[in-house]
Amino acid sequence: MSRNVLVTGGAGFIGSNFLEYMINKHPNDLLVCLDDLTYAGNLNNLDPIINNSNFVFVKGNICNKELVNSLFNKYRFDIVINLAAETHVDRSINNPDIFYESNIIGTTVLLNACLKFGKVKFHQVSTDEVYGDLPLDSKYRFTEESILRPSSPYSSSKASADLITLSYFRTYGLPVTISRCSNNFGPNQHLEKLIPLVISKALNDEKIPVYGKGLNIRDWIYVDDHSSALDLIIDKGQAGQIYNVSTHNEKMNLEIIKQILKMIDKPESLINFVSDRPGHDRRYALDSTKLEKLGWTYNKEPLCQNTLSLDTFFEVGRGHRLLLSPSCTRRALF
Ligand code: NAD
Repeated sequence: MSRNVLVTGGAGFIGSNFLEYMINKHPNDLLVCLDDLTYAGNLNNLDPIINNSNFVFVKGNICNKELVNSLFNKYRFDIVINLAAETHVDRSINNPDIFYESNIIGTTVLLNACLKFGKVKFHQVSTDEVYGDLPLDSKYRFTEESILRPSSPYSSSKASADLITLSYFRTYGLPVTISRCSNNFGPNQHLEKLIPLVISKALNDEKIPVYGKGLNIRDWIYVDDHSSALDLIIDKGQAGQIYNVSTHNEKMNLEIIKQILKMIDKPESLINFVSDRPGHDRRYALDSTKLEKLGWTYNKEPLCQNTLSLDTFFEVGRGHRLLLSPSCTRRALF
């Protein structure tokens, strides 16, 4: 079976990994990537697939109705997967407007095009941050039924887009699905995000800013596991449903930072505690039983902690690119 698939935000971190995953897994699909190449997008992230005959890159904004409609008209998409978004919480605190524009208005432009062109299947890539946070000592995990309590302009923009997406199912019968994933790590992540930031600062012997006491807990997932979840949901997910995505890998920020420093043989004195982020979420934890019941599995093999420092290398010279050596076990960091 061959499908015409629109992937928005494909030049970013998760989008570029997802596109590579899809091209390898579904070589007959036509994959069209629409990305505005904001500060977070990088065409170099698409190097491995840019010359593939089943791949098309279009530079443009998902808020641009004319452009979006012309792409739908030209390619008659079977599926749309929306990853395009402003994604950095700190930036959302300083400049929320662009988050509402890209993350909410942009999503409605895509939903409207899906309606207009024959109820095209739409998948919204969302985040665990829409649920807000949990106390550090809580044993609770958010389920898809949990109340939405977003803390930041970023997470509130994502929660808004989720609600609009669900309303298109209820009101118009548009076949939508939503995934809410935990914190991703892997190649191509922007330098502003925790793991690349710590690595690049440490490699340059620069101070590493750590919010508060570094006690916040995040649930980390390797980006390929997110890709396999998305692939499954667009294939087998039920219209109108939400699926949490987690590999149950909770780590305290300070623990990760110390581990990275150890890996690259740098002193803990580089850690510089700074005033906490306003509204900083304490702990995220997700229950992904629903997705596992749909058939999702992920690699639970033991970690390769001991070989880490030998096998891992980083290339941070090209602006914002972080590579892990292919010879290193994919969950090397944890
Ligand atoms: P990213 O910031 O690395 O990439 C975002 C991409 O979207 C960039 O290529 C950028 O150019 C593009 N973009 C931004 N606004 C656009 C617009 N208006 N029109 C077209 N393109 C635009 O983000 P990421 O970490 O890869 O996240 C991708 C998606 O996954 C986002 O929707 C995010 O909310 C969601 N998500 C991310 C994580 C995570 O840990 N990174 C976790 C859960 C969900």
